[in-house]
Amino acid sequence: NPGSSADLARALVAAVATDPSAVVARLHSTFAGGRTRPLSWRLSRLAALRALLTEQSAEFLAALQADLGKSAAEAYRTEVGFTLNELDHTVAHLAQWLSPTPASVPGAFLPAEARVVREPLGVVLIIAPWNYPLQLALAPLVGALAAGNTAVVKPSELTPATSAALARLLPRYLDREAVAVVEGGVPETTALLEQRFDHIFYTGNGMVGRIVMTAAAKHLTPVTLELGGKSPAVVDPGADLAVTARRIARGKFQNAGQTCVAPDYVLAVGDTADALERHLTEAVQELYGPDPATSPEYGRVVNERHHDRLTALLGDGRIVTGGTHDRARRYLAPTVLADVSPEAPVMQEEIFGPVLPIISVPDLDAAIAFVNGREKPLALYAFTESEQTKRRLTEETSSGGLVFGLTVSHLAVPELPFGGVGESGMGRYHGRYSVDTFSHAKAVFDKPLG
Ligand code: NAD
Repeated sequence: NPGSSADLARALVAAVATDPSAVVARLHSTFAGGRTRPLSWRLSRLAALRALLTEQSAEFLAALQADLGKSAAEAYRTEVGFTLNELDHTVAHLAQWLSPTPASVPGAFLPAEARVVREPLGVVLIIAPWNYPLQLALAPLVGALAAGNTAVVKPSELTPATSAALARLLPRYLDREAVAVVEGGVPETTALLEQRFDHIFYTGNGMVGRIVMTAAAKHLTPVTLELGGKSPAVVDPGADLAVTARRIARGKFQNAGQTCVAPDYVLAVGDTADALERHLTEAVQELYGPDPATSPEYGRVVNERHHDRLTALLGDGRIVTGGTHDRARRYLAPTVLADVSPEAPVMQEEIFGPVLPIISVPDLDAAIAFVNGREKPLALYAFTESEQTKRRLTEETSSGGLVFGLTVSHLAVPELPFGGVGESGMGRYHGRYSVDTFSHAKAVFDKPLG
């Protein structure tokens, strides 16, 4: 029956298109052909990615609204616009970053020349999480393409609308031989991880980070792990507490607290806790009005499982503001908790939601000891006017990034490396750090024969 053989042929084509070994073999063959190496190819792919983001931004904003209740303004700023900035910065500097760096040669070898050449790695796997599902899939892709690689992008299954939009739209702008989107959850990612890649770039939690690194070890594939952790915000008594509270609240409650560099908890030094409680309450009102449930600016928790996890944390300490929730709408009000014990469950795991505990510590020594007594965070924030406090925090603590006077925004500075240390991750990206991550620094030594 001709109908069924046509169906069978279509099914076979579909199976081959999504078979991870076929996808990866195709990308390896493209890379081996050498076409991704010229600067012109890289710039044209970045231009295509730019066109995707600008021409399809309405589609992406709608998907982000469906997945996470992100307002158009927030989604544009933190996802589409963010990625465009990263892309434009890369395009503007790429030729310069790729030019070989001369190295001086010890006298005994002279005459001779030496230089460092940035060589693409091959096929890169990018595994993205759900919290900034567009940015965290495409900003690494900017670096992978800029460095001359082919790539597989694996979006998170927990944000299905954005995942589907990427799978549908990306192949319209970027050639399938160079970039593939593979959708799916654990089984599909596990199958992908069995393939041989030249670099794996994973963003997500540390437990899966360990699975990724174990799989990568089989092929001796290098990994970048962009993980999370509990990022503290230290508040010094000399700081302007109204400004401090506004800036902490903005970073914490953006995307309903589901930001890897959101301030996880406040370390209130000395007698700052009472005033902070008041100012944080005011700051939440300023941001989202008297009822955040009706504010178009306030996002939603990604799913019911995470909603249940977060509401279970509300029993720790005293609720200063917020605490209301609605499971059916995945709504949890911006919540501040005071009088929280360091042993409480809310202080054991990364919160990754709109719950902000305040912990009081007597002085800066105690704050530093608190930070150093836990895993190294992805970010450390401090609000202080004291240069000595800044110096001590810089020298005496370890974190992926350190920010004074603001929260979250350091990752939007493309000249700064973004990444964790210890439990918050390994490796870094953004701007030229992405090109470094997705390329090999090849030593070239040239001694004349004469
Ligand atoms: P997630 O559940 O979407 O998982 C991330 C990716 O891993 C997804 O693509 C998922 O399909 C895949 N995955 C899940 N289980 C797997 C398994 N068993 N084997 C193989 N792959 C698997 O996202 P998440 O981990 O819940 O993300 C939240 C975490 O990510 C937080 O800890 C947060 O701090 C961190 N994060 C870090 C950054 C950063 O840039 N450092 C950015 C965002 C989020």
